[in-house]
Amino acid sequence: MPPIPLYFSDELNQFNFGSGHPFTGTRFKEFLELLRKAKILEQCNIIKPIPATDDELRLAHSEEYLAIVQKAMKIGGWLSIDTPATRGAVNAQRLIAGSGLQAARLLVDTYENIAHTFGGFHHAGPDYGEGFCIYNDVAISAKALIERHGLDRVMILDSDAHHGNGTMDIFYKDPKVLFVSIHQDPRTIYPGKGFVWETGEGEGEGYTVNIPMPPFSGNNQYGMAFDEIIEPLAREFRPQLFIRNGGSDPYYGDELTMLGLDLDGLAEVSRRTRDVALETSGKLLDMTVSGYGNWVKYGWLAQFCGCEVLNTDYKAFSPKQPHRSPPCTEDSLTRATDSMLNSLKREIGKYWKIF
Ligand SMILES: [Zn+2]
Repeated sequence: MPPIPLYFSDELNQFNFGSGHPFTGTRFKEFLELLRKAKILEQCNIIKPIPATDDELRLAHSEEYLAIVQKAMKIGGWLSIDTPATRGAVNAQRLIAGSGLQAARLLVDTYENIAHTFGGFHHAGPDYGEGFCIYNDVAISAKALIERHGLDRVMILDSDAHHGNGTMDIFYKDPKVLFVSIHQDPRTIYPGKGFVWETGEGEGEGYTVNIPMPPFSGNNQYGMAFDEIIEPLAREFRPQLFIRNGGSDPYYGDELTMLGLDLDGLAEVSRRTRDVALETSGKLLDMTVSGYGNWVKYGWLAQFCGCEVLNTDYKAFSPKQPHRSPPCTEDSLTRATDSMLNSLKREIGKYWKIF
């Protein structure tokens, strides 16, 4: 087996929003330690990222916004109520944006078919930063693939529990990027965007697809979304490269969200993403960064194993999972998901032959 490309450097450990902030900067080294214990680290090729340049950040962000970040960093300011522009966070996100660009180049220029970064800062938009996100590495990578590497079709699957509002805004009018986000129903969680009727604008009409999952949706309901929307869309769009914006916050033990995937569910979402990405484009840029509370690294491990189809028993390296007790029946979750998927198909049916 060739080694698995994974972009990391010790500098990422400087990521710090201050004490008590739910986004912990210790997650990267804790995850690497877990990979080491699970004997996966020895199968990886750890590649040291180079920070993105200002020119590269401008692929997705305005000049004015980049100046605001610099100024906020100097005076100890905040970009939004939950996002302080600390030096540690700004520098780490610049480095992560650089890792996305390097991974994109690696996939385009070589026979490598999967590469992993610690990215997914999807709440940063063209001229704003929020939701712990300063530089949108997902969008910067996709823009580079189009503008610098000449690709015409990039698919982004955002499986983070929160809607990727920043990524959506950046590509809302762009038919070269199919942005599909599966997330907790925006009526029940930040950022309050990602409804079925948000489908793109102008030339980009039909190229934004939002799958708002009912709260507490679990493995079966996610399976329905893959069967009925994600896989058929990927097959019709035929991306040249597939980006997955992942993370462990759809896990039912996550502290900031209300979804219902267990560790097997996280692994399965990754495996299905991998399968459809390789089937349609042969190339997957896999990004993982989210997760809140004590389960972050265990969720990441399950995702990593699913994505790489490793036969590691990831549950053997995790604590016993808490009892899952959604306040509704499996049947009602399935009915609510079915109804949401049907209204989504009505919204996007005019853009895609398959619906
Ligand atoms: Zn999230």
